[in-house]
Amino acid sequence: MILLYCIYNSMANSARFIWHSIIVGGGASGLFCASKYAAPKLLLEHNARPGAKLAVTGGGKCNFSNLNVTERDYVCQSKHFCHAALAAFRPRDFICILEEEKIPFDTLQNGQLFAQNAREITQLLVRRARTQNTDIRCKTEVLKIQKENGLFRVTTSEGTFYTANLVLATGGLSYPDLGATGFAFRTAQELGLKVVPLRPALAGLRAPDPLKTWCRQLAGNSIEAEITVGKRIEKGSLLFTHEGFSGPAVLQASLYWQEAMPVRINFLPGTDVLAWLQKNKNNTACFSKILAEFLPAKITKTLLQENDVRAADAKKETLLAAARRLNALSFQPTGTSGYTRAEVTAGGVDTVQFSPASMECKSIAGLFYIGEALDVTGRLGGYNLHWAWASAAAAARALARR
Ligand SMILES: Cc1cc2nc3c(=O)[nH]c(=O)nc-3n(C[C@H](O)[C@H](O)[C@H](O)COP(=O)(O)OP(=O)(O)OC[C@H]3O[C@@H](n4cnc5c(N)ncnc54)[C@H](O)[C@@H]3O)c2cc1C
Repeated sequence: MILLYCIYNSMANSARFIWHSIIVGGGASGLFCASKYAAPKLLLEHNARPGAKLAVTGGGKCNFSNLNVTERDYVCQSKHFCHAALAAFRPRDFICILEEEKIPFDTLQNGQLFAQNAREITQLLVRRARTQNTDIRCKTEVLKIQKENGLFRVTTSEGTFYTANLVLATGGLSYPDLGATGFAFRTAQELGLKVVPLRPALAGLRAPDPLKTWCRQLAGNSIEAEITVGKRIEKGSLLFTHEGFSGPAVLQASLYWQEAMPVRINFLPGTDVLAWLQKNKNNTACFSKILAEFLPAKITKTLLQENDVRAADAKKETLLAAARRLNALSFQPTGTSGYTRAEVTAGGVDTVQFSPASMECKSIAGLFYIGEALDVTGRLGGYNLHWAWASAAAAARALARR
């Protein structure tokens, strides 16, 4: 049975139940935090069931961590903020939980760790949270958080609750269909905390015309490519879409892309197109045919457009333009595929305001932020869920001592 702490509130002249802690958000970080300490606590979730997003992660297989995780896998304005939490919670720690519960998982060559069924992870976390004295209340939307007389007043669609320790685990803005709201950010601002500008990340990039038209003609095709954004170079699979580009390499690149930044794509990494075309300059075939051993002619033809001429007839400028388009196509994306399709929200509540060891706010005692709501965004490959676990574990260690 879950115990409630009761204190006398002289201001309101009435007895009030004071929870040891309240966790807002029953997603990855909220559930994991609840499962990691025994104090009686309330977990509030506005969806009908906890862990809706978690259940669809990794295409239903939940890429729950990555053996190679380091702080370099995260984008965060405070460079070393993640270090302590990541050092204290390793991928092995989550594996141990799965082994204890006899839940099977797979390890990919690049260190990615996948469950065989994401729902098993959600069920495991709900079960463990309940055994750790968590009262999980779904269909309860948290509307407002206020700090008064040293306590947090939590106003919800189902009534008002009080606690000394409040954990904000409501995630970011990605996938509103699965329950995402801007609650964490709105609350931060109301409490006087700074929020690093938000943007969709691990998302596709939209191309400007006429490139968009060419992408549409190639939609569904995928190739190995190299994408440069600022100083970052991402190599891997690129998918042509109706709007522009997607696929793992593009999703990774989107993490570093900000509005008005140019992006460069090398559709033939490892092949010096200029040298190859010069070598074939007397060939009577057109460029797309000459390059067919490296890239399907349909793709080359579409990308080269008017520059797909017979090598023997090509002027020097045409040769240079063709090589540039295939080895270094530079363009300015018109945006990303947006929050409806982005896996995560980059930016978030500024971490300089929090202790890296506990995730507790330095200026508001008892306030914790964990998971995606913080300005910590991981690369594709299990890093975001690993951050959800690591930050939740850090807060739970501090809460267990209260
Ligand atoms: C389709 C998809 C696939 C993904 N796959 C992977 C993957 O395989 N590996 C990986 O590492 N990452 C993956 N991610 C990212 C990962 O799911 C998130 O980074 C992670 O879930 C963040 O955890 P969180 O607890 O911070 O937020 P969430 O898991 O989003 O949980 C937040 C919870 O808060 C609730 N909530 C919001 N507002 C309120 C409110 N006002 N009142 C009450 N409740 C509220 C929400 O309903 C939600 O349940 C994926 C994301 C998506 C969208």
